[in-house]
Amino acid sequence: MKSILNPARVIMAIIILATLISAPFLPAAGTQRPVLVTTIFPLTELARSVAGDRAEVRQIIPPSAEIHHFQLTPSDLKLLAEADLVIAVGGGLEPWLVRLEKSLRKTKSARTLRFIDYLRSVGYPALRRDDPHVWLDFEADRILVDRLVEELCALDPNGAGYYRERGRSLIEELAALDNRFQQELRPCFRKEIIIAGHQAFAYLTGRYGLIPISLSGPHPEAQPGARKLQEIIRLIREKKIEAVFYESSEPPAYASAIARETGARLFSLSAGVNLTRDQLREGKTFLELMADNLQILKTALGCE
Ligand SMILES: [Zn+2]
Repeated sequence: MKSILNPARVIMAIIILATLISAPFLPAAGTQRPVLVTTIFPLTELARSVAGDRAEVRQIIPPSAEIHHFQLTPSDLKLLAEADLVIAVGGGLEPWLVRLEKSLRKTKSARTLRFIDYLRSVGYPALRRDDPHVWLDFEADRILVDRLVEELCALDPNGAGYYRERGRSLIEELAALDNRFQQELRPCFRKEIIIAGHQAFAYLTGRYGLIPISLSGPHPEAQPGARKLQEIIRLIREKKIEAVFYESSEPPAYASAIARETGARLFSLSAGVNLTRDQLREGKTFLELMADNLQILKTALGCE
């Protein structure tokens, strides 16, 4: 992935952050709730489900922004400076955060919990190399939820019972969703799933025995190679594959070209990070987006 920060922006950002940090910190009465700052929507959803109304959860990357090429703004720095805990994905998804970490350490107690680093530290065996889309692994999400419960209990010991109870029910929901994927995709075991975009769904599909094949790697590139495009078209013809998927936030230009060439039908999947206007209006939760994905996969691959 190419670097997205230019030095002038970084310097400006650090100056603004330093100014914010040196300002006297005077919490108003009644605003002592822990503040968690997340980078993307799925992390926000998991954190909010555990935090309930005892802690505040704020998100940096808006649901309309492309997460791989996001640029930090001065108002995001203010958010980061106010955080008790920053929750990020890691794995190269938030390079701007790495640059600011030294400054963040000087704030009251802000620490960064990186999902991928944490999974690595507990020896999670299903980590994929160089693939940041780990929130699409519901077992990994359960491990993160456990850790979020502990973090919140440490920040707000009076709420420990509340956080543990909410954490338990969220873990049950994630386990139920995981089971549904397992059961309902079983008839499609070892079926190829063609993603006409970057490899965002290897966690979501590989876990259930599908074989994800994408136009480009786990980090989006400007243009997929023509050779890869031809390779995929050939594979679709050879194996008589009838469905082509694209990430719901991406314009399906390559997907449309492949569909035109092969007669395969187009289906969109959600990576849970970019919500369409309709999904935002309906107030879709992360778990609902994933349940929608399951229905789309079953219909498209014919595993019903
Ligand atoms: Zn992605």
